Amino acid sequence: METITFPESVRGSIGRYAFYNCESLTSITIPDGVTVIGEYTFYDCENLASITIPKSVTSIGERAFAFCNKLTTVIIPNSVVNIGSAVFDCYNASIYCEAESLPEGWEVDWNPNNCPVVWNAGTNLRLFNVKVTANNSEYGNVRGGGAVVKGFTTKITASTAKGYHFTSWSDGNTDNPRTLTVTSDTVITALFEAHTVVVDAAVPATYTETGLTEGSHCSVCGKVIVEQKIIPMLDNTAITETAANAVNIYAYGNKIVVENATEEIRVYNAMGALVGCVGKDAPGRISTGTTTITINTSGVYIVKVGGVAKRVMVD
Ligand SMILES: [Zn+2]
Repeated sequence: METITFPESVRGSIGRYAFYNCESLTSITIPDGVTVIGEYTFYDCENLASITIPKSVTSIGERAFAFCNKLTTVIIPNSVVNIGSAVFDCYNASIYCEAESLPEGWEVDWNPNNCPVVWNAGTNLRLFNVKVTANNSEYGNVRGGGAVVKGFTTKITASTAKGYHFTSWSDGNTDNPRTLTVTSDTVITALFEAHTVVVDAAVPATYTETGLTEGSHCSVCGKVIVEQKIIPMLDNTAITETAANAVNIYAYGNKIVVENATEEIRVYNAMGALVGCVGKDAPGRISTGTTTITINTSGVYIVKVGGVAKRVMVD
């Protein structure tokens, strides 16, 4: 049993306990002509989702809808003058009443869990069904909808699966989440599509600018798929030290000056004969890393330090 529609000929009351604990009952249309919904009629119908009480009903017995915890929307017309105790002893119902305020004939604990009540909700209230779907259930999922009172709203939400974005609803609206005012039975579909992946090229770091790793994003929605990470600037400390430590050879008057030698210094004359040799820890060497060699005969000399050689003119 899922949906019950009574024959039009039903009149009078629906019997006590008629659908007591009827787990498979999800929806029911109570025919116009029924005047009494007896006590415990739908007690513990745990899958019953919505109910419209026809304008012929004047009385609803004790606990008639107690423990109907899937019941989300209830319409109660002005005709209902008596409601018993704990009729809506449930937790998820929103109750829309044509009455402007609590009628005298309703027990004070008719709604013991204080489910939200809209008084003076209007006349000729009716329920519409809002069915929310996704164009592909693997692309994302949807929430909201169900039974909604005519002229009221429902919040519908589209949530994407990884790799997809939400494009729009099937009527072209792009709000998400969206507050939908309901004026008819409605089927609405969330349209999802796969991201359009664009590669964000890597940018190499330099000595003056940071770089970026390769990443990617969706060119339609902008979603970052692979984040670009910052590559630090190249470290130029080592280069500076190398430059600072580079062997520098020059002549100054009758002196040959060698800076930053870390190996033995050899001085040759123009004929290629070795005329001087200074060890790296030689006494003439000063602490800043500069070695000064005095030459007594002017002329061209070749100075070699390790793999470095330079021709200098000494006065
Ligand atoms: Zn996208």
